Amino acid sequence: MSSVTLRHSLILRLVGVSLLLLLMVQLLGFAVVNHSIGSNARLQIARELDTDERVWHRLLEQNAERLRQGSALLAADYGFRSAVSSGDTETIQSALENHGARIGAAATALLDTQQALRAVSLAEGVQQMPGTLAPVAQALATQPQGSVVAVLEGRPYQFVMVPLKAPVVIGWVLMGFPVGQPLADEMRQLLMVDVVVRVAADGALALPVSTLPAAALEPLRQPGSVPAELQTAAGTLLVRSSTLGAVGGEVQVLLLRSVDVVVAPYRQLQFLLATITGGGVLLVALGSGAMARRLTTPLRSLLAATRRLASGDYSVPMEHTARADEIGDLARSFDHMRLDIARQQAKVRDLAYRDRLTGLPNRERFRMVLMQAIDAQHSPPRPLAVLLLDLDRFKHVNDVLGYAFGDRLLQAVAGRLRPHVHAPGDLVARVGGNEFALLLHDTDGPQALEVAQGIARSFEKPLEFDDQTVDLSAGIGIACWPGDAPDADTLLNRAEIAMYAAKRKLSVALLYDPVFDSASAQTLTLLGDLRRAVEQDELRLFLQPKVALHGQPGLAAEALVRWQHPQRGLVPPMEFIPFAEQTGFVRQLTLWIFEAVARLLARDDVRSLGLRVSVNLSTRDLLDPELSTRLEALLARHGVQAGSFCLEITESAIMDDPQRAEAMLNRLSHQGFKLSIDDFGTGYSSLAYLRRLPVQELKIDKSFVMGMQAGEGDAMIVRSTIDLAHNLGLSVVAEGVENAAILERLRMLACDEAQGYHISRPLPVDDFLAWHARQ
Ligand code: C2E
Ligand code: CA
Ligand code: CA
Repeated sequence: MSSVTLRHSLILRLVGVSLLLLLMVQLLGFAVVNHSIGSNARLQIARELDTDERVWHRLLEQNAERLRQGSALLAADYGFRSAVSSGDTETIQSALENHGARIGAAATALLDTQQALRAVSLAEGVQQMPGTLAPVAQALATQPQGSVVAVLEGRPYQFVMVPLKAPVVIGWVLMGFPVGQPLADEMRQLLMVDVVVRVAADGALALPVSTLPAAALEPLRQPGSVPAELQTAAGTLLVRSSTLGAVGGEVQVLLLRSVDVVVAPYRQLQFLLATITGGGVLLVALGSGAMARRLTTPLRSLLAATRRLASGDYSVPMEHTARADEIGDLARSFDHMRLDIARQQAKVRDLAYRDRLTGLPNRERFRMVLMQAIDAQHSPPRPLAVLLLDLDRFKHVNDVLGYAFGDRLLQAVAGRLRPHVHAPGDLVARVGGNEFALLLHDTDGPQALEVAQGIARSFEKPLEFDDQTVDLSAGIGIACWPGDAPDADTLLNRAEIAMYAAKRKLSVALLYDPVFDSASAQTLTLLGDLRRAVEQDELRLFLQPKVALHGQPGLAAEALVRWQHPQRGLVPPMEFIPFAEQTGFVRQLTLWIFEAVARLLARDDVRSLGLRVSVNLSTRDLLDPELSTRLEALLARHGVQAGSFCLEITESAIMDDPQRAEAMLNRLSHQGFKLSIDDFGTGYSSLAYLRRLPVQELKIDKSFVMGMQAGEGDAMIVRSTIDLAHNLGLSVVAEGVENAAILERLRMLACDEAQGYHISRPLPVDDFLAWHARQ
């Protein structure tokens, strides 16, 4: 989940939920208030309408009273009474008219004692009245003190009747007034109540009186009962209807009051409430938003912190640790976790970058520091030197003296190397089992070489532990930045190449030279080539004769391999044997040469010659536990004797792992092979040690033999070697005999056999046989 969605969803949810709850409460409150406002308003209006109704009836009463007084005035009029008594119709009529007009009656009538109509005066517009006055009179006769409402021509009228006394009743005066607009208007003015009079007569509905606008009346024109509430454009009106007992139709008086008018102040309150609610919602939204942000901002920074931790960056302290709340607790425990992890990481890193035996930085660390040193360089660059040191015969020490001794030796070496590093940033590291490396700042090739020589000097004093004494020696390769390589890995690589070259050339230290590199680059393609050479039969067997110097019989030769390369021509063994030894491929090569020699010895024409062939064995051969069984099988296959072979082994091949070498030599000797120490004099082995081995022959290295002529030193060595060997019962072969003088000298020194260009160069098999035939 991204930080944005975390923040948003949390804020939204928090704000949303609180707003929703608030709104729900507010809406519920609003609904309850709204409902009770409505019902309260209706209750209040109903009470007001009660009053209105009473007032209406009072008004009608008052009206009737006024009418009655008007009628009584007429009835008391002397002229009128005498006119009625005398039957003066004209006077009666004019009196009725005058009187009626004065008090605004719609109808003024004189009835006889039997309530029959005698004279009528009508206001304008009520022409039809006379016919209907009779029933009115009848109705009034039953309640002379009351009034009667009658519907005439769709309009309501209120009638009263008073007796005409002289002093006995001589007739009745009947007067009618319209129940009309003025009354309604008065109600409206007095009480703010609307009045509608609804008249149903002769199957028709009419609304002769109304204080409402015409449009609002429409629903009242429908036949049937009157609705309790009336919806108009101006709002809701509550309707109270009362029916007046009427003659000639039905009269309903409707009193109407607006609900809205009553509710209006509450509506204002409600509006205020809604505004407050709106404000509240806004406040809650802002407040909970702010709260949520207060919560999510630290969460987001915690999230960013976990990402940093995951990517291995422990350097940034947590934010929000000063807060006193739960977020602060969380941030603090996160910070603890960060520091703990950082500490553990440092420990792990230390384990990963330190060699535990010597306490020195390891290869990884060395590489990193070297890379940083190169990266940190500005122009003009200051030179850097890498010295790579590989202890000689370390495996031998381990095997012979034990691993505990080996460990102490490595610790001692570390101790001797440390003083050679003093400048800040310089480093000594253990970069392999018996490999150490030094990084020196501001050091060029010649200076590095001096340091290497210093190291060699500090190795001169032998190591002594528990009565054991061990000589220390090492090969040191030096490569310098920026001259030798542009980057750390190449630099290390080249220092290693120089180191191997130093070991090969038996020098203490060598500066890297591109020549070494091309040599090692060539070796890479060489391995593939070598395999192909064996498969495609490109190897050749050459033989170099060994001659006896004191007339011992028999024919002997050393088998030397050659490679008939399709492009490079005849490749000498020194160009591929060392490489084959490094890669272990030499074991196939040895088997190939054995096979070739055995095949030769098995030839009928060769069997009779009694040829003895010396074959070279390498360290790898000697340490191969299968060697003796393989050779056994090979001899059996070709039907040749082990006695026809002499196996040449160098001192260093034996010294690499003396115990295993010794065991293998014993087995080979037991099988019948003759054994010879090759290149004698170049190694460090003592004759005393060699005596323990089942060897029959010593081969003095050609460097001494060839040097015999030039200096007496080499001649001395050759002579004493011959003497010593003879004392030990070994026969001596001198190789590298290049001229007759040396040959003669060797004969004088009682050397047993000689081999060299003076006698013959190594020859192909057929040439060798031809050479022999010539002898
Ligand atoms: P090595 O065993 O010491 O062989 C003797 C080397 O001395 C041969 O060189 C030979 O040609 C050379 N030599 C002989 N007489 C003279 C002389 O009068 N003057 C000089 N300057 N050199 C002379 P080569 O054949 O080049 O072999 C070199 C080395 O290669 C051998 O040294 C041996 O260590 C190795 N090698 C050769 N063939 C084989 C092989 O089949 N198997 C193994 N494992 N190593 C072999
Ligand atoms: Ca040899
Ligand atoms: Ca040799």
